[in-house]
Amino acid sequence: GAKRTSGRGPWEMVLIIHGFPSDIAALRFEWAWQHPHSSRRLPHVARRSRKESSLQFHWRVVSNMLRVAPWNRLPLTARWLKQEYRMDFGPALQPPLHVPIAFGSVRAKKTLQPQTRAEEEETTDCFVCRRPVKVSEKVSCLHASCGMSSHLICLGRRFLQSEPSQLLPVEGECPSCRRSLLWGSLIRHQLGCLGDLEEVTEPSSQDHWADELQM
Ligand SMILES: [Zn+2]
Ligand SMILES: [Zn+2]
Repeated sequence: GAKRTSGRGPWEMVLIIHGFPSDIAALRFEWAWQHPHSSRRLPHVARRSRKESSLQFHWRVVSNMLRVAPWNRLPLTARWLKQEYRMDFGPALQPPLHVPIAFGSVRAKKTLQPQTRAEEEETTDCFVCRRPVKVSEKVSCLHASCGMSSHLICLGRRFLQSEPSQLLPVEGECPSCRRSLLWGSLIRHQLGCLGDLEEVTEPSSQDHWADELQM
């Protein structure tokens, strides 16, 4: 989402959606956001009205996108980079509960050094399949008193047992402590909070609870 700062250019980036599982998924989202009337997933999104600004229109489009497949299952975050332009989701266009709203700038992180061989070889046993799990493929329960860790894929399969037609989990129960875990929070934690992004500003008092999980 972008907003022109004055009558004509330059454009200022004000809203981003992040947390995509792959670059391809992000590109498809980007394409549909820019071409909502060509996307077969968004036939219900009306064209831009005369009284709508470009930013209002794009906000309405993305609000709709977050609610439909395949995007409504992705662990996405809607982030207002410029809080002064912030808009709220319409009453009929609330996003899924697992999608947090965040505020503040982020920037692309420098590529992390590949993990050292020692770290890579440090293993524990997967709580689900009992086989060794490497650091790079491990997810851990986010509840403080629980030491559960497992293969990402093992926990994902377990979360999907109740909805076998889906490919991507949204939420599930920790197999050890039985408390609820959001898949997106697990992934954000495993990737080091923001994945390939990092915060560049101080969090404001209006930050979403999910930012706590990301820190
Ligand atoms: Zn396993
Ligand atoms: Zn647990």
